[in-house]
Amino acid sequence: MYQIIVLRKLQGRGIFVTEDRNEPNTAMTPTPKGLEERPVILGRKLAAKERRTLLETRNKPEVKKKYNDTECHLSPTPKEGGLIKGPCMQCPVCFTHGGLRSGDGGNYGRAGIVLYDDAYSLGDSEIEVLTMNAVDTVTQRTGTALATETFVYGGSFINVVSLKDDHPEVLSLILDSILSTGSYGARSRHYGRMKNEIRRIIKVPRPLVTSYGLVGQIGSPDDINKVLNELDVKVTESGGEIITVPKLGNHEKILDDVNNLEEVRHWYEEVAKYLKPEGSKGRGKKVTPDESSNTEKDDQEEGEENN
Ligand SMILES: [Zn+2]
Repeated sequence: MYQIIVLRKLQGRGIFVTEDRNEPNTAMTPTPKGLEERPVILGRKLAAKERRTLLETRNKPEVKKKYNDTECHLSPTPKEGGLIKGPCMQCPVCFTHGGLRSGDGGNYGRAGIVLYDDAYSLGDSEIEVLTMNAVDTVTQRTGTALATETFVYGGSFINVVSLKDDHPEVLSLILDSILSTGSYGARSRHYGRMKNEIRRIIKVPRPLVTSYGLVGQIGSPDDINKVLNELDVKVTESGGEIITVPKLGNHEKILDDVNNLEEVRHWYEEVAKYLKPEGSKGRGKKVTPDESSNTEKDDQEEGEENN
């Protein structure tokens, strides 16, 4: 398996909330001096956003031709004729991120092979409360209604993304999704600009690091190199290796390379048995949405209109 250590640097203001609460998500964060309450970015939010980045390529008109002209979406949305669109379960993005789909042959659920830890603050973010004037959109005049908005301002977040797979092609796909995503959180059209830096990629026989474990050793952002150098020793001791960040090609080529893997092709065939009616009579297995790695809620929270 691979573990990718990402330093996520917030460029200005971000809104990292759940359920539309006007309050940043925080976590009791371990530090070398003890627990501290700090902002946190939930792993499932990072996963949803980075999956969506991959889907932008996957759903391009010239690319979707390779997938029977279908589209792949993060969560089911009602469509004309009562059909449901959702994860297609027949593409590289579904292979890595998992999902749930109902078909004529039954339901098929897959747990993702890419696992996102929460991203913990290194203690260098500010919490900023701004009073916003509510502007009447018809008259363009400022009304008396005032609202406060709470932001996380600047700072950096340490994060581990684990990949339960050993193919370099799959690693490149996940790296591409991390490095091509530039904003996170609510109303990400305006807020939540992020610069993601890959600080280490390790290939290990079993999980070696977590975001939680790392943040507990990092006293300040200046300590990162020292902590990662110590990690390097542990990687070697555990029989693992440190991987250099590969040179990434264009998005479509990266997606194609995973699509052509024998293992992925084989998985497509397996899923097809569940989703297609031919030769199968309700072979589907019952799965609950919790078993898949993405829920509808993630999608709504990430949506521009809902935040
Ligand atoms: Zn898909």
